[in-house]
Amino acid sequence: MRRPLIAGNWKLNGSRESALELAADLISGSADLSADLLVCPSFTLLNPVREALAGSPVALGAQNVSAESSGAFTGEVSAAMLAEAGCAYAIIGHSERRTLYAEQDRELAAKVLQALSASLTPILCVGESLAEREQERQEAVVQQQLDAALGELETTAIAKCVIAYEPVWAIGTGRSASPQDAQAVHASIRAWLGGLSESLAPSVRLLYGGSVKPDSASALFEQTDIDGALVGGASLNASDFLAIARAAAS
Ligand code: PEP
Repeated sequence: MRRPLIAGNWKLNGSRESALELAADLISGSADLSADLLVCPSFTLLNPVREALAGSPVALGAQNVSAESSGAFTGEVSAAMLAEAGCAYAIIGHSERRTLYAEQDRELAAKVLQALSASLTPILCVGESLAEREQERQEAVVQQQLDAALGELETTAIAKCVIAYEPVWAIGTGRSASPQDAQAVHASIRAWLGGLSESLAPSVRLLYGGSVKPDSASALFEQTDIDGALVGGASLNASDFLAIARAAAS
């Protein structure tokens, strides 16, 4: 049985004050929830949010991680630094990183390795563009992204990863994939895992991301291969984020 994971990607939002308020609301609303909750604030908010979350079941993660471990890489933050800052997870290969910052497959594979080496759980994001969806190439695109980022890893390392299917056309647009379309790609991801190792397929958590809201969450979580969500906009509102988490837990 895979325990649901609801991850909030706060992106470039929030101040120390608003982040602490959000963290406090999440703690008070998440008692006895049978789902894992995770928030991923900006780097400078990690420390205050870590202090606010101390002793609570809400986990902390980063939105990005360097592909390098140390050295002359101005502006980068290493996996070891993130672990030291209290992170348990790192989002890798979000479509905004791929498109706005030209992150390439080779770099993403290195980021996954770096995260694992610091005992962070990588949340690898994959997903097709609108043009690729219109050409019905979504499963091929996702498979190519999985091959590139995870294909060289031992299955024991892949077992430590979370994979988030996020169709690019659904992110921040208010247009979620239908539960059936999302499930079809999730099933293809699970089949890809099963092709590597039979025991891997049932164990890895697969999240859906792309305009998940409280009213669309339940139908997504009813799908066999959807184990939670990576949530952008709705994660900035505690009651929406908690409603999504309760839908996953029920
Ligand atoms: C995201 O940024 O990962 C995301 C899914 O955003 P939103 O929920 O706002 O579409």
